[in-house]
Amino acid sequence: MEHPENNEAYKGLVVNAGIEQPSSVNPYLKRKVKKRQLSVSEFVEGIVKGDVTILSQAVTLVESVRPEHQATAQEVIEKCLPYSGNSIRVGISGVPGAGKSTSIDVFGLHVLEKGGKLAVLAIDPSSERSKGSILGDKTRMEQLSVHPKSFIRPSPSAGSLGGVARKTRETIILCEAAGFDKIFVETVGVGPVSYTHLTLPTNGIVINKADGSNIDKAKLAAAQFRNALHLFPAPDSGWTPRVLTYSGFYNLGVKEIWDMVYEYIDFVKGNGYFEYRRNEQSKYWMYESINEQLRDSFYHNAKIESMLQEKEQQVLRGNLTSFVAAKSLLDTYFEDLK
Ligand code: GDP
Repeated sequence: MEHPENNEAYKGLVVNAGIEQPSSVNPYLKRKVKKRQLSVSEFVEGIVKGDVTILSQAVTLVESVRPEHQATAQEVIEKCLPYSGNSIRVGISGVPGAGKSTSIDVFGLHVLEKGGKLAVLAIDPSSERSKGSILGDKTRMEQLSVHPKSFIRPSPSAGSLGGVARKTRETIILCEAAGFDKIFVETVGVGPVSYTHLTLPTNGIVINKADGSNIDKAKLAAAQFRNALHLFPAPDSGWTPRVLTYSGFYNLGVKEIWDMVYEYIDFVKGNGYFEYRRNEQSKYWMYESINEQLRDSFYHNAKIESMLQEKEQQVLRGNLTSFVAAKSLLDTYFEDLK
């Protein structure tokens, strides 16, 4: 007998009529995979509400080198400016092993006892390679990293020192707008000068690791600093500098340091020096921004890009003086702008 399967009309499997296939199992999946970038006002609203996820995304935009990200970042920063400027900003700088993380952990817990919120921005300008990954290791600040009122943000520090300093300042503005009233900026090695402890030597010096067999050495160092301070002119702030020792590891002397910091802040707020410094910084950054944008516009100009190498070679070969080369490039640039 012929097998039924040899009959053309035979179908071994029966397909029942079913419901229509949906176009996608989860219509929201696509949106979830590729996050839509927030609008400027969504960023600002989120930041001002204190949403740290949105704050983080905004900081990522600040750090981005893509022009469209930078454009959004600048708008967000501008809208956040009115909410900024009221934090205590403290710079902590030192070589690896100096005790920065240990100190930040205890300092952070101490300042948070009074309430408020703390942002720790960790920057490593000496190492572009690490992309902040070493500093990003959250275990470095064991207690702070799990504190609900703290925000720790390691920053990759690609680019020039000036660029890093600007991005740090912009990140500070965003953090302040998000309600962080205490900001620690941690830098490794020779960080942006304006942020280091020791650039304000005449307003106060604190010496770490004053514990165990180190105590005598720390006290001696403190005495030497006290003597040396007399050799400096009196600080513009009018404040009489002090030298203190502490141990981050054993949490000794931490309260005394912060009592001094708060006393200093009250003092300089009282005599107008605090506001004066903030205004000076704003002025500085206005000119910095102008310089940066002019430079950027010049070097990214197509005509300039095409001429630059050639002019440089002519200068190196002695066929053109530096000044003539610069002038001809600038003339080309200004002509092109017309
Ligand atoms: P960082 O690289 O500057 O962040 O330094 P760490 O905070 O990681 O500290 C480096 C080393 O110094 C660690 O082994 C710490 O335990 C130690 N250290 C930090 N603070 C103190 C301190 O106050 N006293 C002593 N004795 N050791 C400390």
